[in-house]
Amino acid sequence: MNAPPMNAPALRDQFGRSIEYLRISVTDRCNFRCIYCMPQEGLPWLPKADILSYEEIAELVRQLAPLGLRRLRITGGEPTIRPQLTTLVSLLRAIPGIEDIALSTNGARLPEMGAALKAAGIDRVNISADSLRPERVLKIARRDLGFDTRTVAAAAEAAGLGPVKLNVVVMRGINDDEVEDFARLTLDHPWHVRFIELMPVGELRSLTWDHVVPSEEVLERASRVAPLADVAAGTGPRGNGPARYLRYAGAPGTIGVITPMTHTYCGSCNRVRLTADGRLRTCLYGDHEVDLRGPLRAGEPLEPHFRRALAEKPREHDLLQMQVGGLRALSQVGG
Ligand code: SAM
Ligand code: SF4
Repeated sequence: MNAPPMNAPALRDQFGRSIEYLRISVTDRCNFRCIYCMPQEGLPWLPKADILSYEEIAELVRQLAPLGLRRLRITGGEPTIRPQLTTLVSLLRAIPGIEDIALSTNGARLPEMGAALKAAGIDRVNISADSLRPERVLKIARRDLGFDTRTVAAAAEAAGLGPVKLNVVVMRGINDDEVEDFARLTLDHPWHVRFIELMPVGELRSLTWDHVVPSEEVLERASRVAPLADVAAGTGPRGNGPARYLRYAGAPGTIGVITPMTHTYCGSCNRVRLTADGRLRTCLYGDHEVDLRGPLRAGEPLEPHFRRALAEKPREHDLLQMQVGGLRALSQVGG
């Protein structure tokens, strides 16, 4: 771990929330086509020239770290399909003040890449896993890449990329009958299964509000396996997320819920996002974006642009007021 820079002034937005966590999208492309994220034919991809190079991303983080940025997550699209991802990880790892680098991935390439990613400096991974049944994975991810959730999670753990978190988007009538099976994984493995409420982003062509399963219902189903108790604050798995964590007595893993639809955590939001083409988004759900690629390529200092973006960070989002499909897919904004 690198020492934090001395006297770094905390970056705060207009509501006093300190911003120390940046999610970096390295590509908008993906080798999956999850039904809640992308249409089968893909999306209009960004031109390659618009995408920040690894050196440009590292330069941006170098300028933000002295302002208090401490934690990073590399995401996409699917980050592992961008060539030589380890080059970026090594560049980021060398930046003073950066304490933690996580990766969000669909996991298909983790068995082959996990050890190299760990060696380059990734601390831990979140893996998207919406079914434990291969035939159902095919229906949800719409690609056959030899994906098996247990194998991928075990490979990540063996590579030292724990605590492994499994992100499950729960969809009524599609995979909600697997809540108990996913929850049972935590009885045998030190894995953290996080159930995510489906959000009305992207095109969601075949999905509707009826597919959203509220987290209370998910927890009620998980508690049919055995009684669940809240994990005391500060003793849950390391991370930056807004999840509430629970545990079965004696279980090595935990169960979490991420509830963008039924509860907001805007009051404690500590994150901003960098899109693959270099725009800073201060809220996942709005249109607030500030271009950093222009100033970066012009050799200008980024701090004024970053402070301007933070000054405009909205107090909270209101997803329930939005139309299904009214927002861009998470793959396009660095979900
Ligand atoms: N490809 C990587 C992955 O799947 O983990 C990283 C990018 S993906 C956009 C990040 C996360 O967003 C995944 O956990 C995915 O399940 C979630 N996600 C995408 N679209 C979503 C939606 N409509 N509702 C809820 N979660 C969604
Ligand atoms: Fe790809 Fe992740 Fe979107 Fe699935 S959720 S299509 S894996 S970017």
